[in-house]
Amino acid sequence: MKIVFFSAKPYDRDFFESCNEHYDFELEFWETHLGPHIADAIKPGTDAVCVFVNDKLTAEVIAVLAEKGVKIIALRCAGFNNVDLEAAKQYGIRVCRVPAYSPQAVAEHAVAMLLTLNRKTHKAYNRIREQNFSLSGLMGFNLFGKTVGVIGTGKIGAAFCKIMLGFGCKVLAYDPFENEQVRNFGVKYLPFHEVIKDADIVSLHCPLTPDNHHLISAASLSSMKKGVTLINTSRGGLIHTREVIDALKTGQVAALGIDVYEQEEKLFFKDLSTSIIGDDDIQRLISFPNVLVTGHQAFFTQEALTEIAESTLATVKALLTGDGVDEAAVLV
Ligand code: NAD
Repeated sequence: MKIVFFSAKPYDRDFFESCNEHYDFELEFWETHLGPHIADAIKPGTDAVCVFVNDKLTAEVIAVLAEKGVKIIALRCAGFNNVDLEAAKQYGIRVCRVPAYSPQAVAEHAVAMLLTLNRKTHKAYNRIREQNFSLSGLMGFNLFGKTVGVIGTGKIGAAFCKIMLGFGCKVLAYDPFENEQVRNFGVKYLPFHEVIKDADIVSLHCPLTPDNHHLISAASLSSMKKGVTLINTSRGGLIHTREVIDALKTGQVAALGIDVYEQEEKLFFKDLSTSIIGDDDIQRLISFPNVLVTGHQAFFTQEALTEIAESTLATVKALLTGDGVDEAAVLV
């Protein structure tokens, strides 16, 4: 049984090859994204393709996969906004994902971004290396006693809430499906606009869907507290980039931490250090001293990569053999 990996990095190969000792699939690793430009190169005999966040599984690509006899699209991530599920259903291709892998990895990265932006440790690191021990410009604020607004309290949002409660923050949350367990931690659920109105810090932990595209726009930003800190480790399309840039210019947003970005597929996971980047929005964001951009690395811990490999291979095997399928992992 053969699986072809797209957008594969050396660490994907390491973790999947190690895990595959228990499965014995034939694994092939391709560095390129999966998209219309390459789908035709897949050879008959490929049972599954394994893809990541920036591969584009459009109806056109899925039609080619079906023609080649591919039976499974396995996402080695949780989000699935990049796959046309209707087209997969139509062509009889199963789609699976990793429903849960170390939610703490992403929640802890969101906290790391918040602490870096607030206490400016990135600036202190560089300053001290130049023997500049001045404190000017490094002042932060106590997280203790601040109000944190959490949008989406699934696995990652819940882990984030717990950490922020540990800091002594008041935690407000919005989720269309309220979680009793999260409420029992001490989190108060409110409608979206009330959460963002009262929060000193807003952190996004919901999936990107057609309904919440640009959830954070000029309108929602204007109803937030002046000087809010905004963190997004979820999906870039949740934030209207140009409008958040305007809010940074006026000081409405005092600090922005993003691990995801609307146009990230042209940039992230690549070394572009000798290239001229044509995307003016990312260049503008990078130029702000109060913006921290990381390149979709929130998931990137040893624990998460181990769980991703184990869950992906187990689900592909279960779908191919029809035995022991974890329904939470299957989308179509
Ligand atoms: P989850 O499915 O456990 O939880 C998502 C929660 O969001 C659910 O409770 C759902 O009801 C809620 N939700 C849906 N629409 C909403 C909306 N419009 N407003 C508020 N809440 C809404 O998912 P999870 O495992 O917690 O992951 C959350 C998201 O994090 C994923 O969808 C993915 O986009 C992102 N993610 C990012 C990384 C990274 O490395 N940066 C890694 C994993 C996941």
